Amino acid sequence: MEQNKIIVAIDGYSSSGKSSMAKWLASRIGYRYIDSGAMYRAVTLFAMDNGMIDSNGNVDAEALGNEVDAIEIDFAIMPDGQHTLLNGADVERQIRSLEVSQHVSPVAAIPMIRKSLTRRQKEFGQQKGIVMDGRDIGTTVFPHAEMKVFVTATPETRARRRLRELEDKGMKADYESVLANVIDRDHIDETRAESPLRKAADAVVLDNSDMTPAMQQEWLLNLFNTIVCCKK
Ligand code: C5P
Repeated sequence: MEQNKIIVAIDGYSSSGKSSMAKWLASRIGYRYIDSGAMYRAVTLFAMDNGMIDSNGNVDAEALGNEVDAIEIDFAIMPDGQHTLLNGADVERQIRSLEVSQHVSPVAAIPMIRKSLTRRQKEFGQQKGIVMDGRDIGTTVFPHAEMKVFVTATPETRARRRLRELEDKGMKADYESVLANVIDRDHIDETRAESPLRKAADAVVLDNSDMTPAMQQEWLLNLFNTIVCCKK
């Protein structure tokens, strides 16, 4: 383990821009970036493809729980960024669809799923030098992370960002459905029994509703530099 490398945990609400911030910071400081939400999305896609989610959106938690440890999830660096691999197949595009977004929070609330993915996430952090974003990274996955950020913005700001993201990828969606999904996921993520979305007591809050990406990046890098410098 390199002596002065740290773990950076970036948690927050859906579409708060935390992934963009985490990705940018990781590349700026030469750390590995892990998108923990992509792991929950990949498991959700697996469940959808294998008939484990019925037409009412009910998840067969037992069947999925029995399979989850055997599901391979990996990340590959492609010219346009990091892609998620599900059992070796590139599913980056499918996991970002509104359909997966609509099913992911109930899947992520299943204790066996969280246990399996949390274990894998902890393994990614063994060598430190990692930036991970999600909902429970600073509370459950890396409670001892040296740097913890909790990102938030109004639901409307987040829905507009998500809609733009989907449109940029050529995917169809309307503002009202995206806003409803953002609010719905917030509620499920905050109220589930297992590792709910919560700010860690020692996390620094960033409300980026009125911040440009450049402002967020500057803020993040300043915080990182302060923490690393004080640690020495
Ligand atoms: O970050 P993203 O919005 O892609 O995450 C998708 C979903 O995965 C979240 O709405 C949440 O239900 C779940 N998730 C989680 N814990 C994490 C990361 C994501 O429960 N650490």
